[in-house]
Amino acid sequence: MDIQLSVILPVYNEGQNISLLHERLSKICTDLSVSYELIFINDGSRDNSMALIRDLAKKDSKVKYINFSRNFGHQIAVMAGLDHAVGQAITIIDADLQDPPELIRDLWNKMNEGYEVVYAKRRSRAGENFLKKYTAKLFYRILKRITSVNIPVDTGDFRIINRKIADILKQMPEQHKFLRGQIAWIGFRQTYIEYARDERNAGKTGYTYRKMLRFALDGITSFSNVPLKFATFAGFFVSGISFILILYALYSRFITKDYVPGWTSIMISLLFLGGVQLISIGIIGEYISRMSGNIRKRPLYIIGESNVEMDRKD
Ligand code: UDP
Ligand code: MG
Repeated sequence: MDIQLSVILPVYNEGQNISLLHERLSKICTDLSVSYELIFINDGSRDNSMALIRDLAKKDSKVKYINFSRNFGHQIAVMAGLDHAVGQAITIIDADLQDPPELIRDLWNKMNEGYEVVYAKRRSRAGENFLKKYTAKLFYRILKRITSVNIPVDTGDFRIINRKIADILKQMPEQHKFLRGQIAWIGFRQTYIEYARDERNAGKTGYTYRKMLRFALDGITSFSNVPLKFATFAGFFVSGISFILILYALYSRFITKDYVPGWTSIMISLLFLGGVQLISIGIIGEYISRMSGNIRKRPLYIIGESNVEMDRKD
């Protein structure tokens, strides 16, 4: 039977949420009266998530799972889901019930009005600390300013996409995934609906600040060259100022002969130049490290076990 809707669920230490998640998703999919599959990607959880998913799969044939050999990260987990989903439409949703499963109905209905992508935009976010909310807001706005791709602000990966978009995503070879940017880049007809993001049902976030920073840098380096231009600009700007200072130094030394052992000016220019150079090298380094990742062409993820027939992949 053809599957109409695949639901992709990246899971990292969500043991306390899995059964409620399964219940709410099954209900909404049944209500929609679509043929569906629920694809759980266990991204190296350290809790009992995998055991729970395996149990679900025994009871419910709609439950598919992919168990990674270790933690590869949220975006890669979603990618593995896309690689194995067979549905005509695919929805990506967090496993901690922050994205209400019931919204899938609205996403589905909106898509059927004739869109390739319907994303869910966060009107509000409950139960997240000030720093997380504020840094996320700032990040989306900076990204918007420095990229020419129209990446929607305040939008995560909670969305529905159709088969065409999923197949294109699978063709995009980059190793550092920033799916919400890649989907915006693809184009076609995209729209959104707004929702109030709930609090996490149980457990705690798997996105540490470290992971968030890496993710933000992936987004920026994949969709903007402005930081590289900034490095060049800063270089020219500082060189210009330095040139004037050099003229001034020569003038004082040879014309007015009014010079003092200039410890202060040397220190200032040294530190300033050193700072600008390090920033520029750092920016270049961020791009180069990602380029080398792409050149290595390692597989994105390693599957330990799965109940998805692998030959369905292509
Ligand atoms: N997640 C994952 N791998 C990770 C971190 C998170 O698969 O390394 C999953 C997690 O289980 C959840 C989704 O990605 O389903 C969003 O993560 P989380 O809720 O921890 O992030 P937040 O909502 O706090 O940004
Ligand atoms: Mg969450």
